Amino acid sequence: MQKPIIGIISPCYNEELVLNETTVQINTIISDLISRNIVSEKSFAVFVDDGSKDKTWELIEEKAAGLLHVKGLKLAGNVGHQNALLAGLMAFKDEADALISIDADLQDDVRVIEEMILKFKLGVDVVYGVRKERPTDTFFKKNTALLFYNLMKIMKVNIVYNHADYRLCSKRVLNSLSEFGEVNLFLRGIIPTIGFTKENVYYDRLERFAGESKYPLRKMLTFAWNGITSFSNYPLRLVTIIGFVIFFFCLLMSGYALFSLYRHNVVPGWLSTVLPMYFLGGVQLFCFGILGEYIGKIYLEVKKRPRYFIDKRVD
Ligand code: UDP
Ligand code: MG
Repeated sequence: MQKPIIGIISPCYNEELVLNETTVQINTIISDLISRNIVSEKSFAVFVDDGSKDKTWELIEEKAAGLLHVKGLKLAGNVGHQNALLAGLMAFKDEADALISIDADLQDDVRVIEEMILKFKLGVDVVYGVRKERPTDTFFKKNTALLFYNLMKIMKVNIVYNHADYRLCSKRVLNSLSEFGEVNLFLRGIIPTIGFTKENVYYDRLERFAGESKYPLRKMLTFAWNGITSFSNYPLRLVTIIGFVIFFFCLLMSGYALFSLYRHNVVPGWLSTVLPMYFLGGVQLFCFGILGEYIGKIYLEVKKRPRYFIDKRVD
C-alpha cells in the first residue's frame, strides 16, 4: 500500500481542558504525514464525544470546522471509554485502511504514530503502543497497574503487558472486531484473540497535561474485574480446586476422628463442630458469589443491548 488512509480515533469525556491542544497537535501530525507522502490526503482524526457534560462537543464542532483533518462524532450519552472507542472504530472503519486509537489527553506519545504507520505499511495488522516506563505516574497508579497485569496473567487473560488502548488496527482486524457482539467490552483482551500479525512500538508515557483522570479507583477495579470475568473461566476452575482441596482435607479429618474414637480419647468438642460449619459456609458463599458474577454476565449478554447510539457527526 503506497499511501494508506489512516484514521485516528480519540474518545473524549469532559475533555474541554485538553481538546484545544490535542486537536491541533493531531491535525498537525496528519498534515505532516500527508506532506511527506507517508499517508493519503484523505487521512483524518475523529474525536468521539462520549456524552460529556462540559463544552467538549462544542469544541469538537469548532475544531472540525476550523481544522482540515478533524471530524467529530457525538454519542447520545456516556457509555464509557471502551464503548465510545468502539463506536468511533466501527463508524469509520470503512473510510480508512487502518485506524489508530489514542486517548484525548495525549498521555501516549503521538510521535510513535508514524512508527505505527510504517509498520502497517510493511504488512503488520496490529501495532500495539507499549509504555516503556512510567516515571510520571504516581506510586499508587504504577502499582495498581502492575497488580492489574499480574492478576490478568494469573487468570490467564491474554493481554499485552503495559499496553493500554493506544494501537493501530488494520481494516481486516476492525472487520473481525465488528463480529464480536459482547456487551462487556474489553478491547485489550479481544484484539489479541483476533490474531493476525502484530508488533509493538515503545514510548514513554507522559503526564496528563490538563484535566483529571476519568479513571478513579472504582472504575479501575471494575475494569480489571470485567477483564477477568469476560475473558476467563479461571475463577470457576479455582472454585473447583478449592472445593476439591477442602474435600480431601475433610477426608483426612474424618480418618483422624475415627482413629481417635478407636483410641477412646475423643473430647466432646464444640469448636471442632462449629468451626468447619462456619468455614464451609464461608467457602460456599464465596463460590456462589463467583457463580453469580458469571450469571450476571450471561444476563447482560443475552439481552444483546446496543452498546451505543450515535447522535450526530461533523466532517
Ligand atoms: N473516556 C471516555 N469515557 C469515559 C471515561 C473516559 O471516553 O466514560 C476517555 C477520556 O476522555 C480519555 C480516555 O477515555 O480520552 C482515557 O481516560 P483517562 O485519561 O481519564 O484515563 P487514564 O489515562 O487516567 O487511565
Ligand atoms: Mg489518561
